[in-house]
Amino acid sequence: MLTITLALSKGRIFDETLPLLDAAGIAPLEDPETSRKLILPTRRADVRLVVVRASDTPTYVQYGAADLGIAGKDVLYEHGGAGLYQPLDLGIAVCRMMVAVRADFDYASAVRQGARLRVATKYLRAAREHFAAKGVHVDLIKLYGSMELAPLAGLADAIVDLVATGNTLRDNNLRAVEEIMPISARLIVNQAALKLKRAALQPLIEAFEGARVAHA
Ligand code: AMP
Repeated sequence: MLTITLALSKGRIFDETLPLLDAAGIAPLEDPETSRKLILPTRRADVRLVVVRASDTPTYVQYGAADLGIAGKDVLYEHGGAGLYQPLDLGIAVCRMMVAVRADFDYASAVRQGARLRVATKYLRAAREHFAAKGVHVDLIKLYGSMELAPLAGLADAIVDLVATGNTLRDNNLRAVEEIMPISARLIVNQAALKLKRAALQPLIEAFEGARVAHA
């Protein structure tokens, strides 16, 4: 039997994907939030889930270790998308990638004066391209967690981070000053797998599409 492997991350993506997995008939048999297993069986014997770190999802699918995956546009943009089809915007895990600064930092006048800004982010590529397009000189500082701390601790003038409700920024006395791009989670498919396993993958892709419409 041909096994289909779908990669996804715990947390927001998993929570919001669960109704889609259910509609596609591939809900996991164990809860990944409580299970220590990294490979989870689903309601279909020929479909399994692999639980990966969000930023690793495109890599698993690119190399064919997973046939399909669900990843945020933020992560896909940094990865670059090589070897991946992105047939569906699932319309879940919606937020915006934004530039944010301390509430008391005059970003507009720093930009107007041509100041060189220190920007902390996980999203180096998106940040580099955004500021280059605006002609703003920046020193980018790569972080792996809690970007919100960087301007408060004096590490950076600005951050590039994801904003959903805006509560995290508000609670930390930060404010968003520019939107870089809208973000949502996409279905991604290994290009070679789509050719070799098309008969098995196409119905799943269509099930996600149908579930997305019903969900929207
Ligand atoms: P919020 O307080 O609702 O604006 O959410 C902001 C926090 O949640 C930040 O730490 C973001 O990095 C994170 N976040 C928001 N939306 C997403 C998303 N779709 N995927 C991953 N992280 C997110």
